[in-house]
Amino acid sequence: MDGFFWTIGAIVVAGLLVQLPSLTRKTKEWLKLPTLDEYWAANPNCKTGNGTKCHVCGSRNFRNCGATTISDDDRTVSCRQCGTTLYRIVGPDLQRLLANHVKPK
Ligand SMILES: [Zn+2]
Repeated sequence: MDGFFWTIGAIVVAGLLVQLPSLTRKTKEWLKLPTLDEYWAANPNCKTGNGTKCHVCGSRNFRNCGATTISDDDRTVSCRQCGTTLYRIVGPDLQRLLANHVKPK
């Protein structure tokens, strides 16, 4: 029976090791993205009275995806119109935005 648990444990550890490089790479790419405040600072004309617009095409239709998984509190926001990745939302910032009832789109 001990062998069974060791086998299951080895499979789980192997699975994590396989996933780790891609998760680390995504996190590094994600960290290079500006935060919303940095995005607004770099593109002041994109901060509108009631939100944010894309600096490339001017669209306000954004896609909000998890940085590593679909349920990740760390989010990546990109433009649905032109596909440009715009900025990142750090988990605690997302909680603050939701607490203020300003839901990211
Ligand atoms: Zn765009």
